[in-house]
Amino acid sequence: MNNLNRREFIKTTAVAGVAALTSPVLSSEIASAQTKGKTFKPIAISSGNGTKALEKTMELIKKGSDALDAVVAGVNIVEDDPNDMSVGYGGLPNEDGVVELDAAVWHGPSFRGGSVASIRNIKNPSKVAKLVLERTDHVLLVGEGALKFAKAHGFPEENLLTDKAREAWLKWKENLSKEDDWLPPHSIEDTDIGEIISKYTRTYGTIHISAIDLNNNLSCCTTTSGLAFKIPGRVGDSPIIGAGLFCDNEVGSAGSTGRGEANLLNLSSAMIVEWMRQGKSPEQACIMACERVQHRCKEKRLLDEKGRFKHGVTFYAINKDGEYGGANLWEGGTYLIHDGTEVKKIECAFLHKRDDK
Ligand code: ASP
Repeated sequence: MNNLNRREFIKTTAVAGVAALTSPVLSSEIASAQTKGKTFKPIAISSGNGTKALEKTMELIKKGSDALDAVVAGVNIVEDDPNDMSVGYGGLPNEDGVVELDAAVWHGPSFRGGSVASIRNIKNPSKVAKLVLERTDHVLLVGEGALKFAKAHGFPEENLLTDKAREAWLKWKENLSKEDDWLPPHSIEDTDIGEIISKYTRTYGTIHISAIDLNNNLSCCTTTSGLAFKIPGRVGDSPIIGAGLFCDNEVGSAGSTGRGEANLLNLSSAMIVEWMRQGKSPEQACIMACERVQHRCKEKRLLDEKGRFKHGVTFYAINKDGEYGGANLWEGGTYLIHDGTEVKKIECAFLHKRDDK
């Protein structure tokens, strides 16, 4: 910005600047003006671990909150919960026993996203992702830089590793291999040390929420501690815009949980929104994302004896008309919907039946 423009800019934005510091990204009043005072039926979708988060999201939306503020306040409940070991505080750590979090947000009306990846010691990465959107000219901050940015905005550094998560990590490490020096508690009679890996399967887990507010604006958020016991620095799909979430205020919003690597290779959330733009229902679009993951996987180690992709990935979508859907590669997945009255658990559409188990 040259000097002249800069002066002009400061003058014209002085009033707006004060408002920006005190109100949400796009205040409900502005959004309401855009929709000429008409109110729309709100709806919110989430992964199966989001009951309380959806209740909070909907409570705020009904009070007139912008959808982005509402979904972030919703996921904060799960980030703060030490018993959800897949998100935020209490999340399962990386290979070194350190919790590293990923999160992203998308604000439909302003068509802006923000995200953080591999951030340590900050309980609510979704709030930091929102600040990346609001207070930087960037979209994604990672690791050290993301932590510094959060601290600059007053976030306290906290130890995120609960005893429960540390014990789960220790069990995983002790049972990882017969060829390293970590051993679980055992007696001198034991012969199977290190062979019970499956008992401590490395888990995935995440929360995604997409929502429509009273002004028919869409926003979404995905936040996670990522793959348990990952290589330090590993980033999953959750904070990658187009993969872990995507939204177009004119079309719909989508997000994912599950094996992030598969989704990173397919940018499924962006594809789901595009398929909805072409007229597919949210559920059809989510199933198409599953088919694409299946079709494009050529690595035998990831396929079972029938050639089916072994891992689960779940997709969630809503469109501008308030229709919703979810799908997983495997039967048995569920998602949650808040339609303004209550939270409902719904079975995901799926590609593969668990026929041979
Ligand atoms: N998708 C997340 C990741 O790969 C994990 C999950 O959803 O379970 O980091």
